[in-house]
Amino acid sequence: MTFNELSLIQPILKAVADRGYTEPTPIQGKTIPLILKRKDVLGVAQTGTGKTAAFAIPTIQLIHQIEKKNPGKPILRSLIVTPTRELAIQIDENIKAYSKYTNVKHAVIFGGVKQHRQVEALRHGVHILVATPGRLLDLIDQGYISLKTVKMFILDEADRMLDMGFINDIKKLLKLLPAQRQSLFFSATMPDNIVQLSRKILKDPIK
Ligand code: AMP
Repeated sequence: MTFNELSLIQPILKAVADRGYTEPTPIQGKTIPLILKRKDVLGVAQTGTGKTAAFAIPTIQLIHQIEKKNPGKPILRSLIVTPTRELAIQIDENIKAYSKYTNVKHAVIFGGVKQHRQVEALRHGVHILVATPGRLLDLIDQGYISLKTVKMFILDEADRMLDMGFINDIKKLLKLLPAQRQSLFFSATMPDNIVQLSRKILKDPIK
């Protein structure tokens, strides 16, 4: 299979080619078409399988298609939540690479640093926000972020998220997200508590 067979738009195909990727990994080949069809997806995948691009590429494409007719300040459309600062930065770097030929705006927020620069980035408006749970809830409480316009919610490394004690933060986020949305859920393992959490988040998901 090639990336050309995945119904991807030229600006993304060009960015993928710049990265030197010749063919999609198995999870990319399976997941990208489903996400583009706006299905909820449950992805069981380890780091190293190309999982980040599997959700980042179609997310950028969907946002690009929704937003290209809207020349105003970017509106938050996609929220990606991941447990650690390192993962958040890595995901944001992937989004930067794949969106470089589009007008999609993105930002990353995480704890352990002063919030000023992150708040500044948000003030200009973003379409895609990558976040760790604590800083996200903190900036929501302070009124810098609203989730009301989110159309895509992506939970990455769900099992690690629960291992790190983020379950209550995730429950708080679920209350703030619109019920009408597309959700993607990725986890390396699927113990019972993760299956239960995925059921709260996804609607008729494809595994
Ligand atoms: P991830 O599982 O998202 O952490 O990705 C693991 C590594 O695979 C990263 O270094 C990616 O840049 C790389 N990668 C992702 N997709 C592809 C692809 N289709 N072909 C070659 N390398 C890839």
